[in-house]
Amino acid sequence: MSQDWDAGRLDSDLEGVAFDTLAVRAGQHRTPEGEHGDAMFLTSSYVFRTAADAAARFSGEVAGNVYSRYTNPTVRAFEERIAALEGAEQAVATATGMAAILSVVMSLCSAGDHILVSRSVFGSTISLFEKYFKRFGVQVDYVPLAELAGWDAAIKPNTKLLFVESPSNPLAELVDIAALAEIAHAKGALLVVDNCFCTPALQQPLKLGADIVVHSATKFIDGQGRCMGGVVAGRGELMKEIVGFLRTAGPTLSPFNAWIFLKGLETLNLRMRAHCASAQALAEWLEQQDGVEKVHYAGLKSHPQYELAQRQQRGFGAVVSFEVKGGKEGAWRFIDATRLISITANLGDSKTTITHPATTSHGRLAPQEREAAGIRDSLIRIAVGLEDVSDLQADLARGLAAL
Ligand SMILES: *Cc1c(COP(=O)(O)O)cnc(C)c1O
Repeated sequence: MSQDWDAGRLDSDLEGVAFDTLAVRAGQHRTPEGEHGDAMFLTSSYVFRTAADAAARFSGEVAGNVYSRYTNPTVRAFEERIAALEGAEQAVATATGMAAILSVVMSLCSAGDHILVSRSVFGSTISLFEKYFKRFGVQVDYVPLAELAGWDAAIKPNTKLLFVESPSNPLAELVDIAALAEIAHAKGALLVVDNCFCTPALQQPLKLGADIVVHSATKFIDGQGRCMGGVVAGRGELMKEIVGFLRTAGPTLSPFNAWIFLKGLETLNLRMRAHCASAQALAEWLEQQDGVEKVHYAGLKSHPQYELAQRQQRGFGAVVSFEVKGGKEGAWRFIDATRLISITANLGDSKTTITHPATTSHGRLAPQEREAAGIRDSLIRIAVGLEDVSDLQADLARGLAAL
């Protein structure tokens, strides 16, 4: 009864509404209680009216919940909201960002298939490809992110997926997603974009031609450092495979975390605008400081892909990296002199974080590999939070004074 009323009303109300409205209202599942906030369904299973009802729901003849590894109303509300924001036919939530990436490859690739990955992806993503997928006969090669000709040349007849993070971490390199999608599709491959750094507030890869988007919801979607989670979003027929894998293998999202993420999405665009404004101000300020040799941020005119960033993104994100004078010692002195910013490798939090990539996130790489990836010993990365920007600038000034 209430189901039909809700569906009809929500459909007509949200027709043609803007991103911020979808972020607050898409995917509502109001119960007959009439609650205004999102209900949290902490239940592992569901009851059936009769044995025949149970049989019909198990066979899929009648739609409805059976077990929370398959579907849960709170998780579904989050999935519908993020699908609306990414412009996806369907989204599915996962236990972590890594579980999202795992489920894409497990669902769409078989032994003998080939995957092309941009060189500077998240460390655990590389470990997943290198240590595990290779063991199951999936071939993996790495390509510099920005060079389209390199991607085209590296595609083989058995290439199934191209996997990229744009912008990259920590150097904020970009790839032209629309052009890369054309290259992939011309040769029968799919393009997967890890959209964690931008979120749909700043970039919608599916609208640019990508086939699948993955997220670590742990970062900006939560935005306040509370819960782990992930998302895969894309076209219906691809999502069917991925949903099937997740329901069987089980790295699905808890309803509690889904509820937190629903709240996170309601403020996503506001937060991203604030993150971007502060990051832009700090990047511009850092670029003028004597102790700073180079700043990597796509919102700076000095960034080699500034034009592409303007075209492809609605903002340049929270992550700023910069090289200081004095090599590793200088970078460590800078970091240790801060008193407000947290020394942690995490990002996407309301609290600003600072890290030394060469000895943390990229510490496992050999020195030559780090050099090739452009991760210098003098490089520092900040992920700008929501504090007052003048306090952040004052803290970074302490770092500069210590160089
Ligand atoms: C954090 C992160 C992941 C992994 O997400 P988890 O939620 O930690 O599993 C994947 N990709 C990027 C770009 C990330 O920053």
